[in-house]
Amino acid sequence: MQQWRVHKFGGSSVADAACMERVATILEADPNPRLGVVLSACRGVTDVLLNLVAAAENQDDTVGKQIDAVRARHVTIADTLLSGKSKEEYLTQLDEDCRNIAGILQTVRLIKAASQLVRDLISGYGEIWSTRLFARYIAARGKRPGAVKWIDARDIVSVEWGPLGPSVRWEQSQANTERLMTSKEPCTHIITGFIARDVKGLQTTLGRNGSDFSGSIFGALLNAEEIVIWTDVDGVLSADPRLVPDATVIDSLSYNEAMELAYFGAKVIHPQTMAPAVRKNIPIWIKNTFAPQKAGTVICEKSTSQLMVKGTTCIDNIALVNLEGAGMIGVPGTAQRLFGALREHGISVILISQGSSEHSICFAIPEAQADRAATVVRDAFDSELRQGQIQRVETTKGCSILAVVGDGMAGSHGVAAKVFGALGNAGVSVRAIAQGASERNISAVIDGKQSSRALRSVHSSFYLSPNTVSIGLIGPGVVGGALLDQLASQVERLGRDFHIDLRVRGIMTSKQMFLQNGEIALGKWREAIKGEGLAADMVKFAQHVHADHLPHAIIIDCSASADVAKNYPAWLAAGIHVVTPNKKANSGDLGLYEQLHTARRAGGSHYLYEATVGAGLPVIQTLRDLRETGDEIRRVEGILSGTLAYLFNVWDGSQPFSTIVRDAKSKGYTEPDPRDDLSGADFARKIVILGREMGLKIELGTVALEGLVPPELSKCSVEEFLDRLPEFDAVMLKRLEGARARNKVLRYVGTLDAATSKASVGLVELDRSHTFANINLTDNVVRFTTSRYNQNPLVVQGPGAGPEVTAAGVFADLLRVCAYLGAKM
Ligand code: ADP
Ligand code: ASP
Ligand code: MG
Repeated sequence: MQQWRVHKFGGSSVADAACMERVATILEADPNPRLGVVLSACRGVTDVLLNLVAAAENQDDTVGKQIDAVRARHVTIADTLLSGKSKEEYLTQLDEDCRNIAGILQTVRLIKAASQLVRDLISGYGEIWSTRLFARYIAARGKRPGAVKWIDARDIVSVEWGPLGPSVRWEQSQANTERLMTSKEPCTHIITGFIARDVKGLQTTLGRNGSDFSGSIFGALLNAEEIVIWTDVDGVLSADPRLVPDATVIDSLSYNEAMELAYFGAKVIHPQTMAPAVRKNIPIWIKNTFAPQKAGTVICEKSTSQLMVKGTTCIDNIALVNLEGAGMIGVPGTAQRLFGALREHGISVILISQGSSEHSICFAIPEAQADRAATVVRDAFDSELRQGQIQRVETTKGCSILAVVGDGMAGSHGVAAKVFGALGNAGVSVRAIAQGASERNISAVIDGKQSSRALRSVHSSFYLSPNTVSIGLIGPGVVGGALLDQLASQVERLGRDFHIDLRVRGIMTSKQMFLQNGEIALGKWREAIKGEGLAADMVKFAQHVHADHLPHAIIIDCSASADVAKNYPAWLAAGIHVVTPNKKANSGDLGLYEQLHTARRAGGSHYLYEATVGAGLPVIQTLRDLRETGDEIRRVEGILSGTLAYLFNVWDGSQPFSTIVRDAKSKGYTEPDPRDDLSGADFARKIVILGREMGLKIELGTVALEGLVPPELSKCSVEEFLDRLPEFDAVMLKRLEGARARNKVLRYVGTLDAATSKASVGLVELDRSHTFANINLTDNVVRFTTSRYNQNPLVVQGPGAGPEVTAAGVFADLLRVCAYLGAKM
């Protein structure tokens, strides 16, 4: 006959009517004819009930109202899911329970204190109410084969409370099971989680989150083929998802690993859950009620996962007690005395660490017990303290324990190095370390304030792809917007083919910034920046992008702002990589430029700016390659303005120059104010950038610049400028005719000469056969004359403007940084 299957649904899975409906659907889809179904109380109800007791102890007047509220929650669910007589019966029982609770609490109010028995009794009602309701509901749906039966776990599970928590009295519990639960017929038992009966027959609980334990106990009692624990996450995750946004589902864990994770704070499963399942070798599944189709995690004897580290956890509110003294060296039994005394006083020690010199022993305990523990220890070693064999008993509160768990850590080198390396990188100092002899766990006691940072950085060192990059983009304008669109269409492929994990986590406009902890959905970045953001703040933006838990950070500056560029040195020094098409930093003050590169070296970061010259054309990279391979660069010349290239390519003298300018503006080939192009200033910046790349110490002011804006027209409006430009047509025409007379053409060219360090930008006459005389409309062209390329210079030519190609140049730099960081492309 097919074995039973046991399901357990946590409070989050039975929070309201819609949740219960979901649970019923899951159970109805299970083909196993015999199910044991353990339910928690509806989400939060246990807390409410326990608070009620505390409120009564404190003479709180609102106890009655609070009872009404918790009752109302169940009435609402019953109104939705039950009807007729069934609902009436349910509500009658509920009302009677509430009256009883009110009665008990009235007594508590008078006595001003509640016994543990009262707390157990009252906190257990949540499970009684949720299961009674659900049992009636699923029975009425009529889609499960056979009978639906409500089982009160107090009639079955008998436990004995000891210092390590409740332990099951299997013989009694098994006998109860045989009597009340076994059935050869199809049936569905709806069982209260959390509650049980003690040796005296009084109601008790299995401790907070104890329904997981109930699930496992019933799995063992019914000899189930498997136990499925349903919750609100996709399985056991590599860390608490509320603390580590990148936590991923672990597909399989050994019982030992799960126990260790649970012990060190992974709330998804109660630590005692494993024991009954281990006894019978029953696999435990952790699955998501809200996504039942997902695989979940299986916990069994031996994990099939290849992962060496299965999870990282953190427990907060820990105190560290340190016992120190030369008198302990070589004295047998000190530890036994110490921990014996603590045990006698019911203080549970979470972690112990002793140096091999035996000069000190330290242990970690829940912070709430710290003062008591210190007293206990001082009392136990009273004479040693007085005689000076033990010098100190020191307590440090506000600590956390970080634990890294995994069977595979045994015998593999470097796990500890990685853990402590990550803690070091995150600036977390470690107060104590313990490694279990099983090598299944490495735990460290750290400052509680640093726990989230520590957890994230340790987690990322084991789980994130080393190619995960956090990106912040400044200036989502024409180029920045095109880049975001290109990223949107490529990130998936980059992830798939090259394991590059690019996450745009922040976008900043001139006024606002939009930050995301995960990542901004690139397909919807325009919507994302429409809403209300935070006020733009360079420092906060950089901090967000440079998150602790992500291995690498890149800021992409697509603004044209000198104010943004001023921040590069600080970012680079902090280890943030910078990629930009913004010319301001590289063509500004030479001091800033040098500071930038010093900061880059100090921070071990990368600074790339290919798109500052010739948009996407490989100009900077070519120059760099030439220099780095030892070529000597003698001369660089080029046409680095698409607008100026166009004007002189098109102008043949048949029309006035001013008409060509007007025409270019109407075609969108110029800036809104054509003087920005004609002045040559932007071009000169590019020449400065190239000059510095060649190693020349040049400043913008030293470039011999021949602008084409008549000084008389430099201040007026754009309209007036265009209207009056014809006044200067005659001068321009004269230059053209002069060139022609010498069988030459006119071109606007920039030149750099290495020997003299001279830079110039302006109109020159060139032979008709010159490369620069034969380029396409708005193309850019650069010619490198070097010791290797001297007879026949190296030429780079092609479209050198436009949002698409500029963005592509930035994108290429971004991928170059990824490659430097280790991505295999
Ligand atoms: P239930 O109501 O189903 O018993 P709990 O709230 O007790 O659910 O436990 C599930 C929660 O545990 C998850 O929502 C998650 O936030 C938290 N959690 C903490 N650590 C982990 C972890 N390592 N893996 C999965 N969940 C975890
Ligand atoms: N309802 C109980 C609690 O909240 C038991 C459980 O849900 O596991 O602790
Ligand atoms: Mg739980």
